[in-house]
Amino acid sequence: MKSYQTPRGTQDLLPSATAAWNKVEDLIRQMCHVYGYSEIRTPVFEDTGVFKRENDSSDMVNKEMYTFSINNEDSLTLRPEGTAGVVRSFVEHKMYGAPDLPARLYYMGEMFRYERPQKGRYRQFNQFGIENIGAKSPYIDAECIALGYSIVKALGLSQIKVLINTLGDATSRRNYRETLLDYFKDSVSELCPDCKRRYEQNPLRLLDCKVDKEHPVMKNVPSLRDSLTEESKEYFDKVLKALDGMGIPYEVDDRLVRGLDYYTDTVFEVVSTHPESGSQSAVFAGGRYDGLVQYFGGPEMSGVGFAMGLERLMLLAEAEGIDLGGVPSDDVYVMALGNVEDAPLQVAVKLRAAGYRTSFNVAPRSLKAQFKSVDRSGAKVVVIVGESELAEGKVNVKHIATQMQTTVEISHLVETVDNLLNEEGE
Ligand code: ATP
Ligand code: MG
Repeated sequence: MKSYQTPRGTQDLLPSATAAWNKVEDLIRQMCHVYGYSEIRTPVFEDTGVFKRENDSSDMVNKEMYTFSINNEDSLTLRPEGTAGVVRSFVEHKMYGAPDLPARLYYMGEMFRYERPQKGRYRQFNQFGIENIGAKSPYIDAECIALGYSIVKALGLSQIKVLINTLGDATSRRNYRETLLDYFKDSVSELCPDCKRRYEQNPLRLLDCKVDKEHPVMKNVPSLRDSLTEESKEYFDKVLKALDGMGIPYEVDDRLVRGLDYYTDTVFEVVSTHPESGSQSAVFAGGRYDGLVQYFGGPEMSGVGFAMGLERLMLLAEAEGIDLGGVPSDDVYVMALGNVEDAPLQVAVKLRAAGYRTSFNVAPRSLKAQFKSVDRSGAKVVVIVGESELAEGKVNVKHIATQMQTTVEISHLVETVDNLLNEEGE
């Protein structure tokens, strides 16, 4: 018989892990809430053109997409990232016409990239991300970084570093492109095949090459800084000043160009400095984009956002020894004594309706075996449903902490449990 495992690059998250995930997701949602961001959910697949825009030179678009077509219908792609789908939706639903912009949106969900799996790098992984669309201000860029940074801090991560750079406006980028084309003119033939493609498609991305990083020509690349217009420099200074004001430490890294082609002005990457994070160190990364709203048929409008890799966030939390807890304990365990049929279920349902996490004994088992289950469940209160008490509409209630046991009417059970657990909480 064939046995099946998770496909390469994917993983099962079992209950012992999902409890921690839920906690982190709750923290993220709460932080988005106070920052005024609301959730948007878009499809997991989109028309391929949503992600694959003309002349895009990124690895993600060129090598990592799960693209398929069924029955000769138009080509579809499993989303490799969140931004494109959100901007597509922003335009489709004419959110650009809202009286108050920017729109503050966030998403959380699975992304798919055909990559070589390793620790912190999967083929199906989860991202949380935000998109702030419809206004351009250095203070919004700073807000965006602050939101991501607050989440990482609230989680308790300490070994992280904010790297930031500016790609400048269109004019700055045009200047720099010319500078790079000229600089790499004679050496491009010695670089990796991807770099050759980048040279043609988007020379800025040459700086992002992980293969040729050590090549001598990469060491003396002219700085983007020298190609920036005055406006771009001023804009960037304001972003930095706002970060200073919020007490967010950063390092300006003028080699940071980011993997996607649509970025302009501010780009940033928040990395872990923990020794275990290795080359999968980016926790969240993003930047400002122009042109994307227009690409989808909307007006000329700028946006800024980031995406955070949740698997990486979880791995780092673990590496830093942050305890996010495991499977939650029960509040109450309902035991069965003798032939009491469905009574334990009925009792459990009452307690569940009152909000208590409750388990009940199913198959006939010895009291000893049932008490072992109580131990494992972590229940603080045990309800014992016995044949003779049941005949009088009563059950026994045992409080684990004090070992006190009483007999109560089933109609007063919830009240009794309320009292026991509230006293304990005090
Ligand atoms: P990298 O340089 O590590 O490949 P990237 O530039 O491709 O990252 P982005 O497209 O910016 O990553 O995605 C944002 C975040 O999503 C990353 O910082 C990372 O935390 C996470 N991420 C990206 N790819 C993967 C993956 N294959 N598995 C798990 N997390 C990922
Ligand atoms: Mg990548």
